[in-house]
Amino acid sequence: MLISLIVPCYNEEEAMPLFYREASRVAAAMKASHGADFEFIFVDDGSKDGTLRVARELHDADPRVRYVSFSRNFGKEAGIYAGLQAARGDYVATMDADLQDPPALLPEMLDALLTGDYDCAATRRTTRKGEPRLRSWFARLFYRIINKMSDTEIVDGARDFRLMSRRMVDAVLDMAEYNRFSKGIFSWVGFSTKWFDYENVERVAGQTKWNFWSLFKYSIEGIVGFSTTPLLVAAAAGVIFCVAAFIGILFVVVRALLFGDPTAGWPSLVCIILLCSGVQLFCLGIVGEYLAKTYLEVKHRPIYLTRETEQDRDARRGGKVPHA
Ligand code: UDP
Ligand code: MG
Repeated sequence: MLISLIVPCYNEEEAMPLFYREASRVAAAMKASHGADFEFIFVDDGSKDGTLRVARELHDADPRVRYVSFSRNFGKEAGIYAGLQAARGDYVATMDADLQDPPALLPEMLDALLTGDYDCAATRRTTRKGEPRLRSWFARLFYRIINKMSDTEIVDGARDFRLMSRRMVDAVLDMAEYNRFSKGIFSWVGFSTKWFDYENVERVAGQTKWNFWSLFKYSIEGIVGFSTTPLLVAAAAGVIFCVAAFIGILFVVVRALLFGDPTAGWPSLVCIILLCSGVQLFCLGIVGEYLAKTYLEVKHRPIYLTRETEQDRDARRGGKVPHA
C-alpha cells in the first residue's frame, strides 16, 4: 500500500524541512502499524525563495521525496492538481507545508478509509483561533452565502487536508476545469466522506500567502464556479425594477390627469436614474464575471507548466542528459 502526500509550496523553504521531519515520523509509525509506504510530493508553485533547492536536497537525501516545480506561480489549486496527477499512491492526501494540517491525524484517517465505507477522510477546524476577527466574520458570511446559492455543499471550516482513495482521486482528475475551486470540486465529485474535527494550529514558520483581497477574490471564484444563482438575482432585480417603474408611471399619469402637471421632482428623478443605472451596472458586472470565467475556460490553457521534476534531476545526475 502506497500513500502519496501532496504538499503545495509557495515560498516555504523554512517550513518544508519541519514538515518533512514530522511527516517522516508519522510515515515510520504507519509503516509499522499499517504496512504503508509513503511518497512525499512537494509542488513548488513558482516560489521566489529556496523552495526548489530544499526540494532537491530532500530528494537527494530521501528518494521517497518527489517534487514538481512550476515555471511561475499558478496558485495553490493548480499545485494540488499537479500533485494529484503526479501521485502514484493507492491513497492520496493533500496538505499544507506549514503543519497547519497535522500529519498525526493520518493514521486515523487511513483507518476510516480502510473500513471500506468511505472514499474520503476530510478535516475541518472547529476554531479559528489566531485569525483576525473581521476575517473570521467574513469567512462565515461567505460560507452562509455560498451554501444558500450553490447545490454543492461547501463545509464551513473545511481544510484542503484530505485523504482520498484512488477512485476519488481519478474522479477529481477528470474535472480538468481551468477555474479550480478545490473545496467545491471535492464536494461535487461526491463519494462518502468522513469528517475529522481538530482545533486550529498556527503555522510553524514563514508567512501566510493570503491577504484580505486575495481571499475576497477566492470567494467570488468559489461562488461563480459553483453557482449560477447570481445570474438569477440579476434577472430578478430587473423584474423588480420594471414593476416599480410601471407603478411609478401609473402614479405619475394619474396625478397629472387629476392635478395638472407642475414641473417639479427634479431631485427625485436624479435619484431614480442613479439608482437604476447603478443596479444595471451591477447586474452587467455579474454577467461579465461569468463571461470572463467562460472566456478563460474555452481558451483551454494548461492549468500549470512544469519547469523541473525529480525525474529531470535524476536523469541529469545519471548523465543521461548530455548537455546538462
Ligand atoms: N500555496 C501555494 N501557492 C500559492 C499560495 C499558497 O502553493 O499561491 C500553498 C502554501 O505554500 C501552503 C498552502 O498553500 O502550503 C496554504 O497556504 P497558507 O498557509 O499561506 O494559507 P493559510 O493556511 O494561511 O490559509
Ligand atoms: Mg497555512
